[in-house]
Amino acid sequence: RKEVGHISVGSKGFNDLIAGGIETQAITEVFGEFGSGKSQISHELAVTVQLPVEQGGLDGECVFVDTENTFRPERIEQIANAFELPVDEVLQKIHVARAFNSAHQILMVDKINELIQSGTNVRLVIVDSLMAHFRAEYVGRESLAVRQQKLNQHLHSLQQIANTYNVAVFLTNQVQAKPDSFFGSPTKAIGGHVLGHASTYRIWLKKGLAGKRIARLVDSPHLPEGECVFKITSEGIVD
Ligand code: ATP
Repeated sequence: RKEVGHISVGSKGFNDLIAGGIETQAITEVFGEFGSGKSQISHELAVTVQLPVEQGGLDGECVFVDTENTFRPERIEQIANAFELPVDEVLQKIHVARAFNSAHQILMVDKINELIQSGTNVRLVIVDSLMAHFRAEYVGRESLAVRQQKLNQHLHSLQQIANTYNVAVFLTNQVQAKPDSFFGSPTKAIGGHVLGHASTYRIWLKKGLAGKRIARLVDSPHLPEGECVFKITSEGIVD
C-alpha cells in the first residue's frame, strides 16, 4: 500500500484541523452555502498540489471537473503568483473537464483513468460541484432512488481512482444555510446518506464575521471534531 499524501489548503489552522491537509486515498467533501468558499478552496488546492512535498504539495497535477462553470484561470494566476510559481506551467497542470450533465460527469471518471494511465501524474481530482447536475436532473421523490444509485456509482468510481492511484478526491456540495449554528443536521445535506458514507472527511464551511470563514470537521472516523477560522484573500486561502 502506498503512503498517504497530504495537500495543503493554504491555511495552517485549516491544515491542522484535517491533520496536515487533504488526504490521498480518500474523499474529502466540503459543504456549505453559496459564497462559503468551496470553489475558492478548490482553486487553492489545484495550485498547492503542484508544490513540492516540503511546501505542502505532492509535485502533482490535478483534474478539475467543473459542473457549474466555476473554474477561473485568472484566480489560479493570483494564487500561483502568491506562491511564486510560473502561471503558464501551473495552468497546464490543471486539466479542466467541463461536465454538461450528470451522465457526462459520470463518464468523466473513465477519462480521468485514461489520463492517469497515459502517464499524467494526477494526484488530485476536484469535482466542483458534485451534486449540481444530479439535483437539477432528478427532481421529485420518485426519482430519488435512481439518483442515489447513480450518485453511489459515481462516488464508488472516484474512490477507486483515489485508492488505485494514490489520489486525493475533493468534492464540493452546496447546501442551504442553517440558522443559528453548526449543530443542525449537516448529514441532511444534499446527497443524503449515500454521500455521507462515501466521504472519508466532511467539512462544513460557514461564513463568519468580517469576511472570515469557519471550517468544521464533522463525522470523521479518525480525527477529532473541531473547527478553525480562515480567510479568503486575493493570494488565496490564509489563516
Ligand atoms: P457557490 O456555492 O455559490 O459556488 P462557493 O462556496 O463555491 O459558493 P466561493 O466561490 O468559493 O463560494 O467563494 C466566493 C467568495 O470568495 C466571495 O464571496 C468572496 O468573498 C471570496 N473571494 C473570491 N475571490 C476573492 C478574492 N480574489 N479575494 C478575496 N476574496 C475573494
